[in-house]
Amino acid sequence: MRFDVVVIGGGLAGMACAIGLAEQGKRCAVVSSGQSALYFSSGSLDLLAQLPDGTPVDAPLAALSELARQAPQHPYSLIGADRVAQLSDEAAQLLQRCGLSLQGSNERNHLRITPLGTRRATWLSPKTIPVTPLAGELPWESVAVIGIEGFLDFQPQLAADSLIQALGVRTRGDWLHLPALDRLRNNPSEFRAVNIARVLDLPENLMPMEDELRRLAGDAEAIFLPACLGLEEDAPLVALQAAVGKPVRLLPTLPPSVLGMRLHQALRRRLQQLGGIFMPGDSVLRADIDAGRVTGLYTRNHGDIPLQAQQVVLASGSFFSNGLVADFDGVREPVFGLDVESRADRADWSRSDLFAPQPYLQFGVRTDGRLRALRCGEALTNLYAIGAVTGGYDPLQQGCGAGVSLIGALHVAQQIAAEEGRP
Ligand SMILES: Cc1cc2nc3c(=O)[nH]c(=O)nc-3n(C[C@H](O)[C@H](O)[C@H](O)COP(=O)(O)OP(=O)(O)OC[C@H]3O[C@@H](n4cnc5c(N)ncnc54)[C@H](O)[C@@H]3O)c2cc1C
Repeated sequence: MRFDVVVIGGGLAGMACAIGLAEQGKRCAVVSSGQSALYFSSGSLDLLAQLPDGTPVDAPLAALSELARQAPQHPYSLIGADRVAQLSDEAAQLLQRCGLSLQGSNERNHLRITPLGTRRATWLSPKTIPVTPLAGELPWESVAVIGIEGFLDFQPQLAADSLIQALGVRTRGDWLHLPALDRLRNNPSEFRAVNIARVLDLPENLMPMEDELRRLAGDAEAIFLPACLGLEEDAPLVALQAAVGKPVRLLPTLPPSVLGMRLHQALRRRLQQLGGIFMPGDSVLRADIDAGRVTGLYTRNHGDIPLQAQQVVLASGSFFSNGLVADFDGVREPVFGLDVESRADRADWSRSDLFAPQPYLQFGVRTDGRLRALRCGEALTNLYAIGAVTGGYDPLQQGCGAGVSLIGALHVAQQIAAEEGRP
């Protein structure tokens, strides 16, 4: 099977890269073994929220030169500040073409409200979630935070108390009881955001939900619910807002994340509309490499029949997605045996303080400035590495995970397109 490009991994990085390539007419296949980090994410996309030395970042683009000084191996430092600025604009436009309705700017972070009622700086957030400017307030003086009875992943009282302390809004927490959820509620392990959304999205449940929310919200100006609504589209939320006659916003929940799944579905839909091929549930196991080029990829489902491509993009994620594997004697990249940035002594991989930045989060595949993957110190000429499989940054402490994935993806997509256009 021959393609222009095979992308390994269908997370944010792999999908964005494949879409960028398919938009330029490339025949792309994405092989993806399992659920990506999007299924576990808040649905908000971080660009840069903190420098390595702990300084909070208000204006991500303006902070890139200081980031390059503190972290020369950060993917943004390798790509260069001007190009990061340009590609972050283009990434936001790509997400818009996928039909995603996002708020935020690369010039200035905003704060999203977390499920605990605290605030966290980020770049782009779904329009359905409540946000504030960095030094600003919510647009409402009173909010009703309403959980779903029996859904233990979201505690409305906890969120309400934090909102009172952090923002001074009048809030109270309460529980929504809907008989339509009783059957699901009987099995606590199935009582998860996604399954609840499947029930609440049904048109026949709109009216009972509206009645209950009106009663519980009283005179509150807005309602916050856990993100257990709108699994496929925003229509159920839009209908609910119209029915209750006040803004209803969704707070991210513990995984599986409805907001993150919506992102994944939008990306997948766009790729397939463009003629890209998505191969879920398949894994690239090994590769043929000849004279510094990847010449064939072997997957679990295709056995001895290799996938062949002019260019290959590795977007297999970090430890979480098995893009990196930690053994007793070291950290390795399992498909190609690429060079991995890590620390020799296992004791240095983590810190005992759980809340301190963890060194292993910075581990990852080494690349050159074009993001071509290195093996034995040499760049493989047609293999690029993007997103969480690459090293040199800490997505958690620096708040830059989605930005690194999207910007690396478009950086590589544009290079591949330009390269293949050359005679
Ligand atoms: C739990 C969690 C929550 C996060 N939340 C946020 C957030 O809210 N906002 C934010 O900005 N960042 C968040 N991040 C950071 C996140 O790493 C990036 O934002 C980004 O989503 C990473 O995308 P990725 O495509 O590089 O990797 P991943 O999302 O990890 O995707 C890698 C994919 O590759 C597949 N794969 C692996 N090996 C193979 C193989 N051999 N063959 C085929 N497929 C393979 C995996 O199954 C997976 O689907 C979060 C990270 C984690 C772990």
